Amino acid sequence: MIRKFTIDEDILLDDANPAVTTVGVSNHHVHLCQADMDKLFGPGYSLHPKKKLTQPGQFAAEETLTVIGSKGMIENVRILGPLRAETQVELAETEARLAGIKALLRDSGDLEGTYGCILLGPNGYITIDHGVICAVTHLHLSDEEAAPLGIKDHQRVDIFIKTGDKAGCLFNIPARVGKMHAKDLHIDTDAANAFKITAESRAIVLLNECKTE
Ligand SMILES: [Zn+2]
Repeated sequence: MIRKFTIDEDILLDDANPAVTTVGVSNHHVHLCQADMDKLFGPGYSLHPKKKLTQPGQFAAEETLTVIGSKGMIENVRILGPLRAETQVELAETEARLAGIKALLRDSGDLEGTYGCILLGPNGYITIDHGVICAVTHLHLSDEEAAPLGIKDHQRVDIFIKTGDKAGCLFNIPARVGKMHAKDLHIDTDAANAFKITAESRAIVLLNECKTE
């Protein structure tokens, strides 16, 4: 069934509209657990924050790693802090394929059954047997930002995204709502390139009352 719908694109110019979101491009990155950081950087090492991220408490570190697969390597992959319980490598599909690494499409933290790779740091290398993912596009919202839209945590929404003459829709995007979140649509570099995303790009959250979870 095809349902016809229209989108008022003028809304994109109104950052005060609760349905309008910025678009944050997640470049490839690594989250480390303490044990893996000790092996890669030396025992007791701690990350040096370089830049705050849009999500509260999270930062990009000065430190980077080399991610190695069966066909090649990806250098200067930034580590994001703080440390996590489990090491996770987030890659875009294009670069994962080039490096010969299998990256399953997963939500952050959902690592069971995923594939691994080799990580190389200044103190040595480790082989992880799982933890590589291609992260699902997702929308972050604080409680206050989600309330006027009626969006609950884990609810799926549709998104209209436009930069210049490039436009399209993304469907079934999970929302992450709560006090540890701030409004931003997170897409990886493959999706960002497909939509020619720039810092000025905006997207509209399309409310679909058929979707309640
Ligand atoms: Zn995110």
